[in-house]
Amino acid sequence: MAEATWPEVAEAVERGAGVVLPVGSTEQHAYHLPLATDAILLTELALAVAEPLDLLVAPPVAYGYRSRPLSGGGQGFVGTLSVSARTVIAVIEDVVCELIRCGFRRIVLLNWHYENASFVYEAGWLAHERTRVPGVRIMIVEAAFSELSPPVMDELFGDEFPGWDREHAAVLETSLMLHLHPELVLFDRAVDDEAARHPFYDVIPVPVDFVPRSGALWKATRASAAKGGSAWAEIGRNLEAAIQEELGAPAAATAAIMDLSKGSIPNG
Ligand SMILES: [Zn+2]
Repeated sequence: MAEATWPEVAEAVERGAGVVLPVGSTEQHAYHLPLATDAILLTELALAVAEPLDLLVAPPVAYGYRSRPLSGGGQGFVGTLSVSARTVIAVIEDVVCELIRCGFRRIVLLNWHYENASFVYEAGWLAHERTRVPGVRIMIVEAAFSELSPPVMDELFGDEFPGWDREHAAVLETSLMLHLHPELVLFDRAVDDEAARHPFYDVIPVPVDFVPRSGALWKATRASAAKGGSAWAEIGRNLEAAIQEELGAPAAATAAIMDLSKGSIPNG
């Protein structure tokens, strides 16, 4: 969407195209992955499902809710730039209202950053309540990777799956980045790490032993491009099927995309 002109967006809206809003973070991902890892993975995922479902990909939200020590390493790392929950909710709510005002009716909020999850749902809820436009349907995907099949889970983790909260800058994210953007991974710096304590509760202020020094919450060296390829294919398939089921795609979508590529945009 960011690379489209307004008449192209108008034409997409007119033919019934939907839109995906990726919601990422700017957060440390250990010694070996970039700060934008969440937004990079999400934008790739959105682009992967966009065409068959006739969805535009909106510019991603690059800042997320406060990194928490037990799921993202916490705020103690240089480069982690977070915003408050009320800011996350306000930005997403406003952007969704804008998308609805522009005419989009099929809207997917695609989150990756663990800490954002409920706030993305809240933003979607508030935007729906505020606009009350008939026909609008908002789908919230908090963790597109959370239902991988047993064979893929086994390939990724063997018998060492630590839980998704600890899988930060570790096997899954590193494998996906090796598969999609190996040029952005400093894999020789990847480490296996974990917090000295990872209890079932949280504490404020943050106890130092809740935070692993590297920022990786689990075993990043177990990652590989092959694991990333397997997981990526399944995550894409699952997401496409889920969006198809909930939001569908207009019948004429494919033809309309082809027309667009031939330059048949309205005069403006
Ligand atoms: Zn991440």
